[in-house]
Amino acid sequence: MDSSSECSIPQSSSTQSGLVVVTSPSARLVERHFPDKVPSRQNGKPGQRNCVVCSSKSGRPRKTSTYYCKICGVGLCVVPCFELYHTKTNPSCYI
Ligand SMILES: [Zn+2]
Ligand SMILES: [Zn+2]
Repeated sequence: MDSSSECSIPQSSSTQSGLVVVTSPSARLVERHFPDKVPSRQNGKPGQRNCVVCSSKSGRPRKTSTYYCKICGVGLCVVPCFELYHTKTNPSCYI
């Protein structure tokens, strides 16, 4: 009587730790600014606002976004302008 139990130990596959986003929780939670959809206009068209970051770049065509910051009340592209606007202190250094 031989009860051979197959105990297949899974080989530890290559641990892929390539994309680890490290952000300090405290910094993230200090200010709570969230992007929100610009409310639709009364005529049913999707609301749009000029992105203040894109608009601040001289020589660049103005860009409109359907998102804005609820707290700041300004239009912002979700990427990358929303982050830029809330991380750069000098508005002339958005680039
Ligand atoms: Zn923008
Ligand atoms: Zn904001």
